[in-house]
Amino acid sequence: MKKVYLDNASTTQIHPEVILEMTRVLTEDYGNPSSTHSFGRNAKSILELSRKSIAKLLNASAQEIIFTSCGTEANNWILRSAVKDLKIKRIISSKIEHHAVLNTIQALQNEFDIQVDYVAIKPNGEIDITNLVDLLSQDTKTLVSLMHVNNETGTVLDLDLVGRICKQHNALFHSDTVQSVGKVEIDLQSLSIDFLVASAHKFHGPKGIGFAFIKKNSGLQPLFFGGEQEKGLRPGTEAIHQIAGLAKALELSYLNLEIAKMQISELKGYLITQLEVAFPAFEINGNQNGFYTILNVKLPFTEDKTAMILFHLDMKGIAVSRGSACQSGSIKPSHVLAEMLSAEDLRKPSLRISFSHFNTKADVDSFVEALKYM
Ligand code: PLP
Repeated sequence: MKKVYLDNASTTQIHPEVILEMTRVLTEDYGNPSSTHSFGRNAKSILELSRKSIAKLLNASAQEIIFTSCGTEANNWILRSAVKDLKIKRIISSKIEHHAVLNTIQALQNEFDIQVDYVAIKPNGEIDITNLVDLLSQDTKTLVSLMHVNNETGTVLDLDLVGRICKQHNALFHSDTVQSVGKVEIDLQSLSIDFLVASAHKFHGPKGIGFAFIKKNSGLQPLFFGGEQEKGLRPGTEAIHQIAGLAKALELSYLNLEIAKMQISELKGYLITQLEVAFPAFEINGNQNGFYTILNVKLPFTEDKTAMILFHLDMKGIAVSRGSACQSGSIKPSHVLAEMLSAEDLRKPSLRISFSHFNTKADVDSFVEALKYM
């Protein structure tokens, strides 16, 4: 059975060149970057060249890039230290954030005396900017935490606009950019953004490695304590092969960005056309012009199909998802779609199809064909 992987917002296939680079580093450059001998200096050089390369791709300075184990850690770190160390009294976020942000904010609200406000969501899944401006009129030390690309629906936040609004209101701005880094140009010199996070496994790199962009002089303090690695901000011996893999994956992503974007956008368009032919009553959840890698659709099937649809597709070798991977085993409806759909629509089967440049039209055909026999 030919397998079809259309769940690239959950994780991506690692690029063969990344595997080669990681294998080389694992084999040859096993020194500890904190050691002063040649093995250590070699590892240190890979570490710092990787940091420089990532910073260059995002137009940041190398010292602003701090490696973490994943996007979840980076989000936790930034939000917690903003409250604990930067004395943020209020967080403005949204109910459609990833749980790495939502649950962290909830934990902080329980632990510290902070105010949390959630921006209104428009029916198409976008953030209501007017409401954000209203919320920011309060004179409290605030951090705004809003994701760039929603991992379930692909709705996109205007980082430039929100950054400018936050600056006007003296609020710090954190964005969970896990779904967009490596998939769209991000210029951190021109954007007014204090913190962002990335995760290598979303752009054909390895799992277990990510980074945070921490704007210079932000005053952020570490989440936990140990050695001097990452300027003491993220102690623990650096995983050089992971970091080299991350840097390689990001370099390849940006090198091939325009071609990948064109190819994937075309595939997404092709899927929409094929769905229109096979299931004319299907609907797109979220913005019609959502991010090019993600499509979330409500299928015109009866409610009783909802529970088993993923299972049936999986039996045919097709991997898609109902929402974020961390929740896909759950029978609870998606917290993101719950903000946008009526109770009745929420019970109907919705699927998230997410692409990478490894996908083909044949993958789309197999998926649509399988849906016809649900
Ligand atoms: N934020 C978003 C938007 C995501 O899609 C994910 C991954 O599912 C995460 C955060 C968590 O990233 P990681 O898997 O690196 O912890």
